[in-house]
Amino acid sequence: MDGNRLRDEIVLNLAHIISSAGSPAVCLATVLVGDDAPSQRYVRNKHVQAAKAGMISRNEVLAADVGQAEVENVVRRLAQDPSVHGILVQSPLPAGYDEEAVLALIPADKDVDGLTLASMGRLVRGVPGLVGCTPLGVMRLLQRYGVATSGKRAVVIGRSMLVGLPLSLLLARKGVDATVTIAHSRTADLLEVCRQADIVIGAVGQAHLITAAHIKPGAAVIDVGISRTEAGIVGDVDFEAVQAVAGAITPMPGGTGPMTIACLLENTLTAARLQGAFPA
Ligand code: NAP
Repeated sequence: MDGNRLRDEIVLNLAHIISSAGSPAVCLATVLVGDDAPSQRYVRNKHVQAAKAGMISRNEVLAADVGQAEVENVVRRLAQDPSVHGILVQSPLPAGYDEEAVLALIPADKDVDGLTLASMGRLVRGVPGLVGCTPLGVMRLLQRYGVATSGKRAVVIGRSMLVGLPLSLLLARKGVDATVTIAHSRTADLLEVCRQADIVIGAVGQAHLITAAHIKPGAAVIDVGISRTEAGIVGDVDFEAVQAVAGAITPMPGGTGPMTIACLLENTLTAARLQGAFPA
């Protein structure tokens, strides 16, 4: 399951939708605090892809020591600015910042990361809204590559607000209809739990936690986890060994990462629609 290819398809489709509508301005604003290198790279990629999708993007860059009040001021301004449709505060903020307080300032209809209380509430209640980019990206990969979900057993390893929990809710939704198990650090029999699954998703951040022994022959395996090792970026899945047993598998890198960006842009267009700034 090639995430780069699917990202390119989605970005091209977004560019087509926007130009067909007469190119109304659709704007994503990112807020980057501090000089963490991976965060800078992620934000840069988001802006490059936004331009390809025919969107406007703004990047508010703040020094690591700017202080909570100034970060909140910037987010408040973006929240009130009708020309901004999506707001993303790059996580993690440097130590000492109250991330929850910053998130609370983002209106649900501009919450392209799907992380606010209102967005999570909408997801649980099944009300239309914005869903986290990484979980949405996993769902797009499953759909695009024809992985059946209805009545299938899915195991999501990881239960974070960012990935594992919303993804579990999406997989269990009516219409998707997987039977979902949420595994975590206290799961006693991870091997057995995984071996019964038709879909295994690693969202942990532990290099090569998932081996060939975890995978039922033919199962679909999706790798969200990122570990930085001396050999480069490594996923939760031991790709070389697992690809020999899996029916479908995402590479790391080149799988879920690009999809997170594609779905951020998809969410930005959805946000513009929710605000009445783009034709439904
Ligand atoms: P997180 O908040 O640290 O959550 C990790 C989860 O893994 C927790 O639920 C934890 O269980 C569970 N876990 C830890 N050790 C485990 C073990 N040995 N067996 C089973 N479960 C275990 O991380 P996150 O924000 O969800 O991110 C997860 C990974 O995805 C990270 O590597 C992150 O960098 C990556 N990520 C990738 C993308 C992408 O686009 N590909 C996007 C976002 C994040 P407990 O709840 O019991 O502690």
